Amino acid sequence: MKVAFFSAKSYDREFFDPFNGKDGLNITFYDTTLNAETTNLSENSEVVCAFVNDQLNTKVIKQLAQNGVKLIALRSAGFNHVDMKAAAEHNIPVVRVPAYSPSAVAEHAVALILTLNRKTHKAYNRIRESNFSLERLTGFNLNGKVVGVIGTGKIGVAFCKIMLGFGCKVLAYDPYPNEELKTIGVEYTECFHLMSQSDIISLHTPLTPETKHLINKKSIAGMKDGVMIINTSRGALINTKDAIKGLKKKKIGYLGIDVYEQEEGLFFNDLSENIIQDEVIMRLMSFPNVLITAHQAFFTREALEQIAKVTIGNILDFKNNLSLKNEVEVGN
Ligand code: NAD
Repeated sequence: MKVAFFSAKSYDREFFDPFNGKDGLNITFYDTTLNAETTNLSENSEVVCAFVNDQLNTKVIKQLAQNGVKLIALRSAGFNHVDMKAAAEHNIPVVRVPAYSPSAVAEHAVALILTLNRKTHKAYNRIRESNFSLERLTGFNLNGKVVGVIGTGKIGVAFCKIMLGFGCKVLAYDPYPNEELKTIGVEYTECFHLMSQSDIISLHTPLTPETKHLINKKSIAGMKDGVMIINTSRGALINTKDAIKGLKKKKIGYLGIDVYEQEEGLFFNDLSENIIQDEVIMRLMSFPNVLITAHQAFFTREALEQIAKVTIGNILDFKNNLSLKNEVEVGN
């Protein structure tokens, strides 16, 4: 079975290559992202394997169907970049990796918090220049602070547990509260109440029409002055322009993001010799209290192993006409 593998990076090849040529799978790796201009690469492949910034819109899916593609195998948990209706219309099931390492993402959210707070990135640069001054490196104790967690699925649960370990008071909002978290001291509350009470707000919901721009002018206005906002989920949970206004007014004291609304075409690429045309990210990058990482929260050895294993398992299930346990169901 031929698999057209898009957005292939060296680390993808490292973890998927051991499966290539085995169990009747023939994987062709393409560096390019999948979009309307590159769908021709899927000709004669029954499977397309895609990541978060590949475009799987109506037009692309129609072209994939015409090329004979029978399965879309996502290497991600999120599937907001797939037009599920179009996939269903063309009878192409979509499979994903529902959980590859919730701890990896939760731990990265904590890394953003600690770095923004204790400014270790600035200290590192200072020390390299023999600047041993502590001026402007003041942080705050996490112990006793209120942390608001929006979305307590797999990653949110892991994150709550870490923050409880720091001695934080953890508030949570999720339409489906987690009973275990309640027993260990997490307090569920309404979303806007959570935002008004929290020193740190961390987002762990999928991107859906309801969660799009959850962080916006109105919700920011209701937050504590100097709030820290952390987003390791999906860029469009935050209205970036509103966040920039919040930063300029000093309402937002810290912003840590691993995802960005317009990250496609930027993230995962070395653009160090390019002129970046995106004014919004350039403005964000100019704030001393904004920390951006390029969608690396998932990026641990354990997660990459799991992504490869589960993706290959998903493709083999399809090849062997087994039930697709990781198929995305509409309403998932
Ligand atoms: P999950 O499905 O286990 O949990 C999501 C939770 O969000 C669920 O409990 C759900 O009830 C809740 N939710 C849904 N709508 C909500 C709303 N309106 N308000 C509050 N909560 C709501 O997913 P997960 O594995 O914990 O992943 C969460 C998100 O993290 C994914 O959707 C994905 O976008 C993102 N993610 C990012 C990376 C990264 O590298 N940055 C990696 C993996 C996942």
